[in-house]
Amino acid sequence: MQILDGRALAKTIRAELAEEVQQLKAAGKRAPHLAAVLVGEDPASQVYVRNKVRSCEKVGFESSLVRLPADTSEEEVLKVVHNLNEDDAVDGFIVQLPLPGHINEVRVTLAIDPRKDVDGFHPVNFGRMAQSMPCYLPATPAGILEMIRRYELPTEGKEVVVLGRSSIVGTPMSILLSRKGYPGNATVTLCHSRTRDLAEHTRRADILVAAIGIPEFVKPDMVKEGVVIIDVGINRVEAPELEKGYRLCGDVDYEAVAEKASWITPVPGGVGQLTVVSLLMNTLRAAKGEVY
Ligand code: NAD
Repeated sequence: MQILDGRALAKTIRAELAEEVQQLKAAGKRAPHLAAVLVGEDPASQVYVRNKVRSCEKVGFESSLVRLPADTSEEEVLKVVHNLNEDDAVDGFIVQLPLPGHINEVRVTLAIDPRKDVDGFHPVNFGRMAQSMPCYLPATPAGILEMIRRYELPTEGKEVVVLGRSSIVGTPMSILLSRKGYPGNATVTLCHSRTRDLAEHTRRADILVAAIGIPEFVKPDMVKEGVVIIDVGINRVEAPELEKGYRLCGDVDYEAVAEKASWITPVPGGVGQLTVVSLLMNTLRAAKGEVY
């Protein structure tokens, strides 16, 4: 069994991004600029956004954070989005989800200029993805593809089983790995909460992508010998023996499944590490005008 080391890979990519920033500056251009909009005080969202801003700093990107109180009206949020769309000093931006209940997330997502949608959530980017046109890929799937590429894992003709059909992870993964080219050319099965005989599917998988949000759901009897495990889940489970009172785990029972796997991503230290890095890669592409 070998580990797909997201932490090490993220470090390598951050160094490459920092180098690119230096080159841009040497050519008289400014550093790429990512902006983030955070509405309200959701603790997880605050951590994610802080992480994104800090990652920008690490590689020499500019970043700005627009913080809005939880009772901000939808109209106000849309105004902020509009301003960011128009701001030439900003290459890309994200609106951290979830938004407070009184704000329509679909309306806000649709208001983002697809050319600045570095989260890849706008249906224009999603549609471009499905048609293999230049686009911003959502960060987590983009990170997984980068991992597959860098570790040179073969995908052609492979049986891929994706668990979970969310629009930010499972569904895009199923499209991306079935597209023409590399990483792709795989035969993909997309499983979800209504799938019958789930293990029948997972046992066929050469590559299993788990994105369902259930701690340690995938057990060794659900996979075959030599499977490649991409565990996207990030779950908090109680651990009274630890000082912080919890531990993080994936959707795969790591210790047990690792014994059968050829490659596996740990949690933490796997896919999650690449998600923010992918957002930075998208922002660099936006700054260089590589997509639109
Ligand atoms: P989600 O929570 O929106 O949806 C879960 C999906 O799992 C649904 O499509 C549902 O049909 C499916 N599902 C639920 N129970 C199932 C079951 N018993 N059998 C089969 N399928 C089942 O999904 P999400 O937003 O993609 O998140 C999934 C996990 O990935 C979560 O743990 C989340 O924290 C994590 N995540 C990690 C990253 C990262 O950066 N690594 C990014 C996004 C999400």
